[in-house]
Amino acid sequence: MSELRDLLTTTSELAAEFLESLDERPVRPDVDVEALRRALGGPLPDTPTDPRTVLTELVRDADPGITASQGGRYFGFVIGGALPAALAADWLTSTWDQNAGLFAISPGAAVVEEVTGPWLAELLGLPAEVTFAFVTGCQMAHVTALAAARNHVLAAHDWNVEQDGLTGAPPITVVVGAQRHGTIDRALRFIGLGAPSVVVQADDQGRIDPAGLQQALEGGEGPAIVCVQAGEVNTGAFDDLQAAADAASSRGAWLHVDGAFGMWAATSPAHRELVSGIERADSWTTDMHKWLNVPYDAAIAFCRHAGSHRAAMGSQAAYLVHGAESGLRDPFDWTPESSRRARGFATYVALRSLGREGVAELVEHACAHARRFGSELERIPGCEVLNEIVLNQVLFRFPSDDETDAVLRAVQSSGEAWMSGTQWRGRRAIRISVSNWSTTDEDVDRTVAAFAAAVDSLAVA
Ligand SMILES: *Cc1c(COP(=O)(O)O)cnc(C)c1O
Repeated sequence: MSELRDLLTTTSELAAEFLESLDERPVRPDVDVEALRRALGGPLPDTPTDPRTVLTELVRDADPGITASQGGRYFGFVIGGALPAALAADWLTSTWDQNAGLFAISPGAAVVEEVTGPWLAELLGLPAEVTFAFVTGCQMAHVTALAAARNHVLAAHDWNVEQDGLTGAPPITVVVGAQRHGTIDRALRFIGLGAPSVVVQADDQGRIDPAGLQQALEGGEGPAIVCVQAGEVNTGAFDDLQAAADAASSRGAWLHVDGAFGMWAATSPAHRELVSGIERADSWTTDMHKWLNVPYDAAIAFCRHAGSHRAAMGSQAAYLVHGAESGLRDPFDWTPESSRRARGFATYVALRSLGREGVAELVEHACAHARRFGSELERIPGCEVLNEIVLNQVLFRFPSDDETDAVLRAVQSSGEAWMSGTQWRGRRAIRISVSNWSTTDEDVDRTVAAFAAAVDSLAVA
């Protein structure tokens, strides 16, 4: 066997061993950071070491710090696993090592993105003509979409922001909801808009108040951008997208939808109603590394206005070979990066291997598991479920903040499951996000049992 083949075979064995260990390993090991630093650290080596040795030792030394977020009992944040097919495609992506910036460098990568973008738009119920950008995460998808928004609303007031910048530009009113995701604020900062101008209050599920939104836009003048969300990160609640579209259009404002995970509701006939009106927005963002279970990193921005998207992101340089004149799509004309990973392959393989029905099933299974969590957790003495379980998120607490934190710590350190805590309406709470393709009813029951045991041992309530 050649050395190369030997190295790749060894690595695939190590990878398979890891995946096969997911069910038994503690979901999040209690990590000894100092031990991790000692094992992995030391001086920069002067001389080469055999790659097989380095890899084998990396697996040995990093293992205590590797979270089983790939497994079925990891419910922290909103973290997807990796579909086997998408993982395999991701390996090929690194193997091919394409720079997917320009068509001229990788026609295969460019065409796969050209195919996959519209597939996603169709699946998510967006207009057929939207432009798109494959990016690292919803964070950079917001930057891309909101930069297009900035171009568009300023151009309508005769201001060319790409040429003249923001100094002296008509001020842009940015309206957001109180429970927006933090990445919206950071994206606004990146594009020079600073903090939102108006923060509209949210209800007990985190939904933006439609009357407040209407009021914030009514009678105003000048460029405006509205950011709403499909899927609040704690409750999974959806802003009223029809009302938001009405309010935005009454002012001629750009409507942006953060749909990092919630937009996937559109793929399931049973949940589609939640995103009613979504097609009326101007831009949308979502992650494939969350609910579609594509390995990190994978996200997409969509935009209704091709000219604004292109003006905000397009790039030209004399030494490059541009495809646009010949009707070819250069991915980097639509993204904030120049050199970039061929991110389309893994999503393409995920969608082809699942099909429309497989995606709907993935979404519906997760929602069914979330409902099972809701009804089983409520049987535990003292446990109060705080959200309407409309999607894949479950938010709950115990009678006092101290008890909530103590129960959470006990479950986390049991290694049976992992989820994070949060602050909800001034109180401590626990959040569960079911986003992994491999979660089973048994995983849910094991996790609920871990909560019941924690409550018993701590004598809560
Ligand atoms: C996760 C999330 C984001 C940020 O996505 P990244 O992929 O981490 O950049 C934005 N909005 C919502 C609602 C999210 O859940």
